[in-house]
Amino acid sequence: MPIERTLSILKPDATRRNLTGQINARLEAAGLRIVAQKRLHLTTAQAEAFYAVHRERGFFRDLVTFMTSGPVVAQVLEGENAVARNREVMGATDPAKAAPGTIRKDFAESIEANSAHGSDSAENAAVEIGFFFAAIEIVG
Ligand code: ATP
Ligand code: MG
Repeated sequence: MPIERTLSILKPDATRRNLTGQINARLEAAGLRIVAQKRLHLTTAQAEAFYAVHRERGFFRDLVTFMTSGPVVAQVLEGENAVARNREVMGATDPAKAAPGTIRKDFAESIEANSAHGSDSAENAAVEIGFFFAAIEIVG
């Protein structure tokens, strides 16, 4: 199994409810190692740039407003099949459709305020990690 890295974001609904430790515990229990982590408050321009792939979607403006509504925790997770593993642990985008025991099932407030982001491919993970972190900040 390949050791991969993926970009994770604990979203503003999670920081607001003081859930970052509980979510990190889920990630670590799933075999993912937090090899970089920082808390930041995204500007509108930064959130628009990060979610540029969704700019034509009807929910884009609301998503940017939500992602700038409070602090987030950006992190690099490392482990076997980290991209897929993280998405498994997060569960489906819509918490109503997420499997029992997943982060989104247990913590998300809505399809938008769904507590966590995870890269959806190794290629996007590399781009997203570069968006938030310099190489010197990632300590495996
Ligand atoms: P993420 O990219 O955050 O890991 P995802 O890959 O499961 O989530 P995407 O389709 O990439 O889902 O959507 C990005 C984010 O946009 C979702 O996590 C959610 O916060 C928001 N979103 C997606 N679909 C909707 C929708 N129909 N209504 C409102 N917000 C949505
Ligand atoms: Mg996505």
